[in-house]
Amino acid sequence: MAYKISDDCIACGACAAECPTEAITEGDNKYVIDAEKCVDCGTCAGVCPVEAPKAE
Ligand code: SF4
Ligand code: SF4
Repeated sequence: MAYKISDDCIACGACAAECPTEAITEGDNKYVIDAEKCVDCGTCAGVCPVEAPKAE
């Protein structure tokens, strides 16, 4: 299980700054989550203005 960022992402970077495991990095058109590092805490979903991170 890991969170995944949908295409709704507007690349604001808020989630990357809050992720406790630094699992989130900037991708080509949106931010992406490294499933190997994600610990399913949900923090990214909580800070995202467009609810782009979803639990898989
Ligand atoms: Fe990081 Fe938590 Fe979001 Fe996973 S659920 S990407 S660990 S903030
Ligand atoms: Fe994208 Fe939401 Fe993360 Fe901002 S907080 S970079 S909109 S997923």
